[in-house]
Amino acid sequence: MNNDIEKVLFTQEQLNKRMDEMAERLNKKYAGQEPIVIPVLNGAMLFASDMIKRLTFKLTVDPIKASSYAGTSSTGNVKIVQDIKSDVTNHPVIFMEDIIDTGRTLKTLTEVMRKRGAKSVEVVSMLDKPETRVVDFKADDYAFKAPNAFLVGYGLDYNGWYRNLPYVGVLKQAVYA
Ligand code: 5GP
Ligand code: MG
Ligand code: MG
Repeated sequence: MNNDIEKVLFTQEQLNKRMDEMAERLNKKYAGQEPIVIPVLNGAMLFASDMIKRLTFKLTVDPIKASSYAGTSSTGNVKIVQDIKSDVTNHPVIFMEDIIDTGRTLKTLTEVMRKRGAKSVEVVSMLDKPETRVVDFKADDYAFKAPNAFLVGYGLDYNGWYRNLPYVGVLKQAVYA
């Protein structure tokens, strides 16, 4: 599996350091509140589990699953395929995502939670690919800026594989060619 990786971009140690910093900000911001933490499945599983362990305020975890598909026009469409169970009304919502690419998924999901009456909505992401954005969307925080390449590991998959790599890397083109 490691032979399929062109280059390691972010190690467990680098991720740990950034996750400590990101969690510290959240712990200050949400002390005394009861946010609903929403990991975006499946990709954010590893990042979210590591982040949640670092959080010290009272929270509930309620994952969501979304799928993105191209509609009849060139604009992608985002559908919730597994919704949260919680009522977000008057609760802060914190989305946890693996990577922001076009921005469509999180733009849609944040709008949905605002419409449902969330007290506030924010997004923390492991990675951000600012070059490939097609809609106007900014994460509130992310661990690292990522290049425009196909990345795997730490939750990110190719065809369901490589999520278990304890680092983020670039997949060799020969693997999917
Ligand atoms: P978007 O921001 O385009 O709506 O959606 C982002 C989603 O696209 C991510 O949650 C992830 O599932 C997928 N994605 C984007 N870039 C990559 C990448 O480099 N590698 C992998 N494995 N998935 C990616
Ligand atoms: Mg994702
Ligand atoms: Mg995927």
